[in-house]
Amino acid sequence: MKSEHFIGCGSGYRESSTVIFGAPFDGTASYRPGARFAPAAVRGESYSIESYSPYQGKDLADEKIFDAGDLELCFGNTERALGQIEAFAGKILSDGKIFAMIGGEHLVTLGAVRAAAAKYPELCLVHFDAHADMRDDYMGEKLSHATVMRRCHEVLGEGRIFQFGIRSGERGEFEFSERHQFIEKFGFSGLESAMAGIADRPVYFTLDLDVLDPADFPGTGTPEAGGARFGELLEAVFEVSKSNVVGFDMTELSPPLDPSGRSVCLACKLLREILLKKGR
Ligand code: MN
Ligand code: MN
Repeated sequence: MKSEHFIGCGSGYRESSTVIFGAPFDGTASYRPGARFAPAAVRGESYSIESYSPYQGKDLADEKIFDAGDLELCFGNTERALGQIEAFAGKILSDGKIFAMIGGEHLVTLGAVRAAAAKYPELCLVHFDAHADMRDDYMGEKLSHATVMRRCHEVLGEGRIFQFGIRSGERGEFEFSERHQFIEKFGFSGLESAMAGIADRPVYFTLDLDVLDPADFPGTGTPEAGGARFGELLEAVFEVSKSNVVGFDMTELSPPLDPSGRSVCLACKLLREILLKKGR
């Protein structure tokens, strides 16, 4: 019974302003797969944390949040899987709600961003990641977790993507981001002024969890040394949460690569904090 929804998120669809759903897809992972198992792991492990947040003095049990479970995505047909995500996210948005999607590898973001951009033409994308994900193709393939931000750029246009924490990519990816978007390498120092510039425009917030240091978050397919610590990321997440977030995702948790369980625990805690900031 208890693993049917994320802790404290047992409200019905109609009464809820926020909808959680899982996108268990890792069909294009370039190194170590396993992120398809993340939504179920996060949901199950959420009962190891409290629904109450001492950071915010708020409790998930007091919010109206619906957990829709996981989408049944088509493996072997990436475009169709993205279409399924786009359709589901679009339905939530058209019902006047916001969503929190649990990936999955990072490519799942593209489906959700397509839906959000269709509903909100002014959409801005805030992107936390170790990797730029700005390749035009990955070994000839246009749809990959290594190209996802480049595809989002094609959807959104110039100057709409704000990248933070980036510490890995090809030279051309950094050059592309510097020319066409906003990029902050390594950390979050430009975040406050970037969010002030976005002002009250609708925001899609995509959190690739490998932005964290592998010391805090080893359970991910493409770990990259030199990342953020949990407290630093939480502060940055709270800064983004002050804005008009209409869609959120967290991606790239890989439970098979997390034998100690500390990565999935961290993901649960982070999701609780994000849901409490948005669930009003
Ligand atoms: Mn990524
Ligand atoms: Mn990454």
